[in-house]
Amino acid sequence: MAHVNGNFLKLASGYLFPEIARRTRAWQERNPGFDVLRLGIGNTTEALTGHIADAMHHKIDLLTNRDTYTGYGDEQGDAVLREALAGFYQREYGVKLKVTDFFISDGAKSDAANIQEIFSPSSVVAITDPSYPVYVDSNVVGGRSGSYNGVNYDGFVYLEGRRESGFIPSPPDVHVDLIYLCSPNNPTGAVATKDDLKAFVDYALRENAVIIFDAAYSDYIREPGLPHTIYEIEGAEYCAIEINSFSKNAGFTGVRLGWSIVPETLRSEDDEPGLIHRLWNRRQTTFFNGASNIAQAGGLAALSDEGRAECRFLVDYYLGNARVIKEGLEEIGITCYGGVNSPYIWAECPFGMKSWDFFDLLLEKAHVVVTPGSGFGPAGEGYVRLSSYGHREDITKAVDAIKEALG
Ligand code: PLP
Repeated sequence: MAHVNGNFLKLASGYLFPEIARRTRAWQERNPGFDVLRLGIGNTTEALTGHIADAMHHKIDLLTNRDTYTGYGDEQGDAVLREALAGFYQREYGVKLKVTDFFISDGAKSDAANIQEIFSPSSVVAITDPSYPVYVDSNVVGGRSGSYNGVNYDGFVYLEGRRESGFIPSPPDVHVDLIYLCSPNNPTGAVATKDDLKAFVDYALRENAVIIFDAAYSDYIREPGLPHTIYEIEGAEYCAIEINSFSKNAGFTGVRLGWSIVPETLRSEDDEPGLIHRLWNRRQTTFFNGASNIAQAGGLAALSDEGRAECRFLVDYYLGNARVIKEGLEEIGITCYGGVNSPYIWAECPFGMKSWDFFDLLLEKAHVVVTPGSGFGPAGEGYVRLSSYGHREDITKAVDAIKEALG
């Protein structure tokens, strides 16, 4: 008799997005002929850009000729792309990393989910609240939590992002082994300062903990002085893994390409520096056959000067949308956070409403779908997340509808 991995049964049901879909469908059935306007989804909408798309077309041309055809590549990613990424970190952030520290993947979500596999099942895990759900769920499946207690999971250390501290939590006041951080943050849009990150790096060095830093939205940081990578903080190369993606700057949500940095200098309690790096290399070469070569050609082009200008253009577009949303909501007295160095606006529900009640109100009165903050963790209660991913005309229409309904 086969037994399932019982840890999967501990997962609280994937409540958020199915429940949004259910309520939206029910509303549409009650209101036939009306369109819903969506400000809920973190999915890119604008077309691939010329230089990057050309590089992928060219790669397909190479693949359609038997003289230039290539099959499997290196599991860790194409050497030229890893070199280009190392050059990019040095050039744009002044951060020196080894080419071999970079591992190319099919996106940040897979890496964020898989990285826990190389750590002990007995690791104590700290996760920010609210947070992108994959950090919690992958560690539940990895057996590091107790049961879901109706609010959150027993056994995890939750680091609450409070309004008073700009939604950036402080390091834990107990010992933990793994810490998940995301900046710019999904869902709050908050961006950690160098001092914020230094507090975590100092903690990790002191406690021999490892930080898993998700920088999937780093290209949205436009204010000078804010860190784009955790390796801008001295000592992070000994205690931090970074995960990033081409999804939200080059529009690769469907193309699929990301990378992780697992420095050789990273320390674990078990060995000399290098073991975590070796285990991730072992994990990837065993369980992963490399990212799409077409996507990697696109990624390489995205790191060129022309590609970087195109990514900037795309990110500017979404940041422009974010401004429209934030200013529109603020005009009618809704308090908003994020949305400046981030594609997400974290809006406080008016009149002390709960997240789902405000969701229902916006759907009912403005026909607009947002994401209830409580779906990202208990500390998200009382907020909704609005996403700037959409065509400008649709974003404007949705904001006007909210203003008319609630203004
Ligand atoms: N990390 C964060 C914080 C995200 O919000 C997302 C996607 O929304 C991802 C990672 C996933 O990125 P990818 O498309 O590279 O898997």
